[in-house]
Amino acid sequence: MKVLVINSGSSSIKYVLFEMQDSKVLTKGIVERIGEASAEVTHSVFLKGEEVKEKYEREVANHVEGLEFVVHLLTDSKKGIIHDKGEIVAVGHRVVHGGEHYNHAVVVNDEVKARIEELIPLAPLHNPANLQGIEVAEKIFPEAIQVAVFDTAFHQTMPAASYRYPLPNELYEKEKIRAYGMHGTSHEYVSKQALHLIDKPVDDSAIITIHLGNGCSMAAIKGGKCVDTSMGLSPLAGLMMGTRTGDIDPSIPFYLGSKLNMSFAEIDQMLNKESGLKGIAGSNDMRDVLDKRSAGDKEAMLAIDMYVQRIKKYIGAYIAEMGGLDAIVFTAGIGENSDEVRRLVCEDMAFLGIDLDEKKNRERKAVNRSIHAVNSKVQVWVVPTNEELEIASQSRALLGQVTQKSVH
Ligand code: AMP
Repeated sequence: MKVLVINSGSSSIKYVLFEMQDSKVLTKGIVERIGEASAEVTHSVFLKGEEVKEKYEREVANHVEGLEFVVHLLTDSKKGIIHDKGEIVAVGHRVVHGGEHYNHAVVVNDEVKARIEELIPLAPLHNPANLQGIEVAEKIFPEAIQVAVFDTAFHQTMPAASYRYPLPNELYEKEKIRAYGMHGTSHEYVSKQALHLIDKPVDDSAIITIHLGNGCSMAAIKGGKCVDTSMGLSPLAGLMMGTRTGDIDPSIPFYLGSKLNMSFAEIDQMLNKESGLKGIAGSNDMRDVLDKRSAGDKEAMLAIDMYVQRIKKYIGAYIAEMGGLDAIVFTAGIGENSDEVRRLVCEDMAFLGIDLDEKKNRERKAVNRSIHAVNSKVQVWVVPTNEELEIASQSRALLGQVTQKSVH
């Protein structure tokens, strides 16, 4: 049974084709610079387990042409993975914002599409492109079910005390201004993996998932359900990130406007694109910042201190909110690969029952692995995230619930 996962951006389409019997990636790739003079397509094939990337440069006028080219690559008579696009039974779409409507994945119908459109003001950069991806896939894969998997869905179990802002009620009631959280598919995937690994009844469990990529977020997960998360109405809130501030005093934008005469657009650009690690240390790439820090660069030292301090602050807050902690889970580019960041986050936390095994922490393996010391009360895990597999699994789960006729 084959499921295609699509992450459609404004000028790109990322795709992964899974064989669901063994959750195996058959092929994956990305079509970039759609609509420009020449688009770039990177398509991976796996030869004896080794990934081999093929690159194509060609004109791709729009998303329909982009996805048609992907189908051509998938079904190519010499190197293709499938004979016919009809073998794909479900297409799972990453959709950034599902608002308060969706706490789980859904099969796409007209109402779902209307809701994704309605939510564009909350995700102006992503929802339009996600919707476009769905509409294109409906045309190209008319036999498959289309499934929307929302990045906000996992966080919908948060209680009001976590998701409401102390603003006048009507801003929530009329405008739906509240915390939604992001990276939900990643937090869901790694928390499910961890809950299998920690050997504790799910109902009694309390875990913290820490997604540290270019964007960074954390989630407090009690009894298997998200009770708090660090991103808010938008992905700007919470931890310090590659280029985003995370939490700052909310009066700073007023100050920038009145004192420095900056426009909304300029402030938006500064807070989202020029801050975080980049703002303090000059690079949004954690590897560069760690290298500079090792070379004694003062700004890089400060950036890492700030980055780590904020993660610790959220760990403390979430332990207090959940009334305990069984496990911490690190994931995404930095969380999976930087033993130094993990070490610093867990440093001096033994009083909370968090004790790393330095040797295990330094091992480099792209598998689920524990890195805590034998006596550590809190388990610490590294779990490589796999948002695409989670989207594919949720899409397959919905296949059982619908007949294709009732969908189209
Ligand atoms: P992601 O958004 O999940 O792809 O993560 C991107 C971030 O992971 C970037 O800041 C990279 O610098 C960081 N990253 C990737 N590999 C490493 C590594 N070996 N050590 C430190 N950071 C890394």
